[in-house]
Amino acid sequence: MHYRSTRDTNLSLTAAETIARGLSREGGLFVPESIPQIDRKFLSSLVNCSYAERSAAVMKLYLADFTDEELAQYTRAAYANFDTESAAPLHRLDENTSFMELWHGPTCAFKDIALQILPYLLTASLRKTSESKKVCILVATSGDTGKAALEGFKDVDGTAILVFYPRDGVSDVQKLQMQSQQGSNVSVCGVEGNFDDAQTGVKQIFSDPVFAEKLAEKGWFLSSANSINWGRLLPQIVYYISAYCDLLKEGKIAMGEEISFCVPTGNFGDILAGYYAKQMGLPVKRLICASNSNDVLTEFFHTGTYNRNRPFFTTVSPSMDILISSNLERLLFEASGKDAAYITSLMDSLKNDGCYSVTDAIREKLDGLFWAGCCDEESTKTQIGKVWQDHQYLMDTHTAVAHNVLGQYRKEEGASEQVVVVSTASPYKFCGAVLEGLGREVSGDGLSEIAELEAYTGVTAPKPLSALRSAKVRFSGSVEKEQMEKVVSDFLK
Ligand SMILES: *Cc1c(COP(=O)(O)O)cnc(C)c1O
Repeated sequence: MHYRSTRDTNLSLTAAETIARGLSREGGLFVPESIPQIDRKFLSSLVNCSYAERSAAVMKLYLADFTDEELAQYTRAAYANFDTESAAPLHRLDENTSFMELWHGPTCAFKDIALQILPYLLTASLRKTSESKKVCILVATSGDTGKAALEGFKDVDGTAILVFYPRDGVSDVQKLQMQSQQGSNVSVCGVEGNFDDAQTGVKQIFSDPVFAEKLAEKGWFLSSANSINWGRLLPQIVYYISAYCDLLKEGKIAMGEEISFCVPTGNFGDILAGYYAKQMGLPVKRLICASNSNDVLTEFFHTGTYNRNRPFFTTVSPSMDILISSNLERLLFEASGKDAAYITSLMDSLKNDGCYSVTDAIREKLDGLFWAGCCDEESTKTQIGKVWQDHQYLMDTHTAVAHNVLGQYRKEEGASEQVVVVSTASPYKFCGAVLEGLGREVSGDGLSEIAELEAYTGVTAPKPLSALRSAKVRFSGSVEKEQMEKVVSDFLK
């Protein structure tokens, strides 16, 4: 099993090289050369396995240069840090709908599923490729990725991690989660500006060869922990297969029966993992792509035109506030019949004109697999209140977007298959908007809102969030974006 780039199919890398490199030099994303196939026997064999065992079995199909023992050890260690027996338990809402709760890890968002295991995969990949320098993970975050990456990489030998967040662009809870981070190899820094400023600053640091040379002299190189890295995407394929096994176990479906998944989408990493699961042979009918008011993907699936020239909305589901969904490139590569020259031309027009259109053939192909819809601010909050009223089930704003779009799908398509809604964050990460959805007045800061939401619903907040009450701030500083490179340089002295 080798990997190639979406913009250069002549490359051929091992899995370890792919994970160690992150992004291909010409700007393309790494994809598997062929997609491994699973059958009924494989699925049956996983039904009575733990989540860690399912994870090792699925990842093994993609990681030829890792041993069974390595994968067993990494998955066991990574998923022992979750507060549930399975890292991806299903919560049944009604006859045809369950929520897959992916937020039982240490930072209470689904990013933990990949970022708890990425440090093991990355450090092993560095050993396997005989890399002698230490790696510094540099992250620009709009909130969830930063904290999950910090928890994953804290105190991991041979690594350091530095996170930049927009000083005024994250929730109180998210900010305190990062500022109070423990660990001897971590640092966190605010940036004056919005997420794009932080992201642009990080990209500039990555693409500065003189700076890279200086760091190399000190024994360091930089790498990324966002979903352009294959090592972050792969662990996410597992939970689609795991959900299918759980529905078999529940007796809700027969082997081979098709189900659908509804996914709250931003950078297109999560739902792309579902696409790979389907291409592997998992019986999936539709992947429902749910967006908030930033509906660039809804328009793309409806028209075949991707156009980022549109207003940017800051919403109550901030992790989906994104106009450039990087991982769509991997989907288009597969859907175009692995045409690297075609993908390069699309990405060039995205860069130069902010938009591109795909061929009718590709659009039709995607039409059969995906269904897309969006949901505005008011409907997101209303959905939270409605599900609480009807089912006493509390969901976060991102999950609410997905559940709303599922309603639209069923109404328009008259579909009745089992649907798994991918639940991506604990409601306690976005207390203010959740309280508003429940019809409560919101006042005070993030911490008092946690207490208020607990008191009103009787649903206990996850420990890592209620523990923030006594958390000590370690990193309160922030800088202008021009100073970011100096921050990195000082950190790696
Ligand atoms: C990151 C994130 C998403 C979006 O996932 P993508 O892989 O970027 O599409 C949705 N919800 C939450 C809570 C997230 O943190």
